Amino acid sequence: MTVRTRFAPSPTGLLHIGGVRTALFSWAHARKNGGAFVLRIEDTDLERSTPESVKAIMDGMHWVGIDYDEGPFYQMQRMDRYREAVKQLLASGHAYPCYMSKEELDAMRAEQEALGLKAKYDRRWRPEEGKVLPEPPAGVQPVLRFRTPLDGVVAWDDLVKGRIEIGNIELDDLIIARPDGTPTYNFCVVVDDWDMGITQVIRGDDHVNNTPRQIHIFNALGAVVPQFAHLPMIHNDQGQKLSKRRDAVSVVDYDRAGYLPEALLNYLARLGWGHGDDECFTMAQFVEWFDLKDVSASPSRFDKEKLLWLNAQH
Ligand code: GLU
Repeated sequence: MTVRTRFAPSPTGLLHIGGVRTALFSWAHARKNGGAFVLRIEDTDLERSTPESVKAIMDGMHWVGIDYDEGPFYQMQRMDRYREAVKQLLASGHAYPCYMSKEELDAMRAEQEALGLKAKYDRRWRPEEGKVLPEPPAGVQPVLRFRTPLDGVVAWDDLVKGRIEIGNIELDDLIIARPDGTPTYNFCVVVDDWDMGITQVIRGDDHVNNTPRQIHIFNALGAVVPQFAHLPMIHNDQGQKLSKRRDAVSVVDYDRAGYLPEALLNYLARLGWGHGDDECFTMAQFVEWFDLKDVSASPSRFDKEKLLWLNAQH
């Protein structure tokens, strides 16, 4: 099968170096295997997405020199396709309308928490054989929920983290469409990865919790489940997650500070991946040597001195 990977940033800020590292590994996996690399802009969060951020991401990709073969595809332009896929899940019984109001949800959560339980939707609108559902309240637009299996496990062999297994009992009946019919993040990602024929989803490990939910949606749609590779976070020299407030995290900061894009990429390539003692290399060498199985499963530490040193070498 032809390898197809993607980079799918949400345009809610500048291009972050964590994002560049994700893009770089995804790009290298496609290039190494003679595959295609797709750029997708996940702009469905209307409150946080901005055209300035789309531009910053595109400019950042251009500056570092990571090219893509297809896209950019914008999720906001694919709404009709998501609606069609939502209908498919409704028709196959994998999704159902839930008319619970926000007040009812809050009351249910408060009750569960008072009992020391983790708050979880109690599936009151989930159709079951022999169960009588209440009359839908007049004039209320429902959300659509995914019918998650009640027992069993969902598992995958993560190309970085190894085997991961989650009990379905841990998962909620996820909302896949809001009352106005707009689909939610986890749903759009799956439809896109399916339609775009993505073979390896390579992304930050902040998405590990979404993966079991997404695997269920792939299966329900009758789509091929891709492989997953979750890349560990990058930490600063204090061992903290890189943050905009504390650290220089956007690509333009490095551009302005006079770093060479080749040096930054070389440095990012070495974060969580290695090739013997080689420290300084070209992107052509990186692509030749790159293998997802050599990516480390633990967080890496951003070392400014090392980046400065590499910049002088390039
Ligand atoms: N849009 C998501 C983000 O920027 C990435 C989703 C994904 O790679 O599946 O974090």
